Amino acid sequence: MRPCVRFVFVGIFALTLFAIPGQSAGSLAETGATNDCWTTSTGRVYVPETGHHIAEPFLSAWRAYDLSIVGYPVSEPLEVDGMTVQYFERARFERHPEHAGTEYEVLLTLLGNWISAGHEGDPEFAPLAGGIDQPDPHADYYSETGHYLQTPFRDYWRKNGGLPVFGYPISEMLIEDGYLVQYFERARFERHPEHAGTPYEIQLGHLGRELAAADGIDQQPVPQAEDAVDFRADPEPRSYRIPVLMYHRFGAPAERYTVTYWDFEQQLIWLRDNGYTPITMLEAYNGLFGGAPLPEKPAILTFDDGWPSQWRAAEILDQYGFKGVFFVHPDRGMAPEQFHDLAARGHEIGSHSYTHPALTTVPDEQLWREVHDSRDALAAITGANINFFAYPYGNWDERVIAAVKAAGYCGAVHAWDGQQWTPEKRWIEPRVEISGTLTLSEFAALIDQSYQRSERPTGFRH
Ligand SMILES: [Zn+2]
Repeated sequence: MRPCVRFVFVGIFALTLFAIPGQSAGSLAETGATNDCWTTSTGRVYVPETGHHIAEPFLSAWRAYDLSIVGYPVSEPLEVDGMTVQYFERARFERHPEHAGTEYEVLLTLLGNWISAGHEGDPEFAPLAGGIDQPDPHADYYSETGHYLQTPFRDYWRKNGGLPVFGYPISEMLIEDGYLVQYFERARFERHPEHAGTPYEIQLGHLGRELAAADGIDQQPVPQAEDAVDFRADPEPRSYRIPVLMYHRFGAPAERYTVTYWDFEQQLIWLRDNGYTPITMLEAYNGLFGGAPLPEKPAILTFDDGWPSQWRAAEILDQYGFKGVFFVHPDRGMAPEQFHDLAARGHEIGSHSYTHPALTTVPDEQLWREVHDSRDALAAITGANINFFAYPYGNWDERVIAAVKAAGYCGAVHAWDGQQWTPEKRWIEPRVEISGTLTLSEFAALIDQSYQRSERPTGFRH
């Protein structure tokens, strides 16, 4: 019987159910803050190999399996007989909302059982009595199904997840189309002697494709949705070198916190000519957490405190087509209309608190106002989401980070600490201070990391 099939957009679940890693959904709900950092970029990926999307909750489950176990998607998410499912080459994922939030929310269909239905009477599928029909003294016997597991499939079964992934054996080994095979509840193991000695000697049958065909599912590729990023088969990088330049004032005379416009423009030209691509904080976090591609040499240009002299710096950025990130206060420095205008021109606005205190020293109530209320105020001024926070004086501790998380930000930056970004540093990603006293060659050496640690500014770090 052909099942009832219709498209559902699992991406919608992603918007409502999805909790940002490391941040409980509860904290967002408590504050009522909205936060759309990764709902568009990690809510869905596109797999060019087969031309299909994967969205949560299947995406996380899929990432947890090796490709050789489940394969690429061969359909979009679908509703089949009242259940949301998706077909992959070697598996079918089922969504069980009654188990939401547990490891059982996404289960693999028992494809081995499905494909061998009707063969229960075949001799290879008939349950055996343990110990009596033992084909190999080293074979494992499973009384649950009455079958043995032995060489050459036993090692593969054990190494690749065993029972939860493949289920129990439901047949003995048999020959099909010249290949040695064995059926399990969720899989068909195939031995390919032509690949003996390689990881491809044991392969899993494309049972997901076979079921999709039997169910009359359209497996044709679909065009990539705008909100979906490409899935990359290579492992997620765990770390990026991202020079995040931290500027303050502009003008003359040059001093630690004041860079001349001339020097600033020389630095932008150097970045351009040396292959750097300025990106926004959101783009960087999308790369780090959402699997979005990053340019080969990313850089982020950040500007702290909202000094009025940054307005001219932003105009210079615009001339080079570069986006800046301005960590500002709602009612200090530039006028609110200027913040609004910067955001409208594609620059990113982040919060640097309300009054620039050392946050570790303020009481809880003030901390909340500095972190949370400044975010709301800047969102109202700019009409943009305020996703990132910069700690005044680079001053933070666990309590401050907890407040920044609870206020609904996606991440935060430190004031110093180098250029290596990792997911673990999400709430204190490092930046590089650009002093107005740097020569261009010192700037170049600093950005290209040929400075030694001892040559960096000292005395202000926590
Ligand atoms: Zn500051």
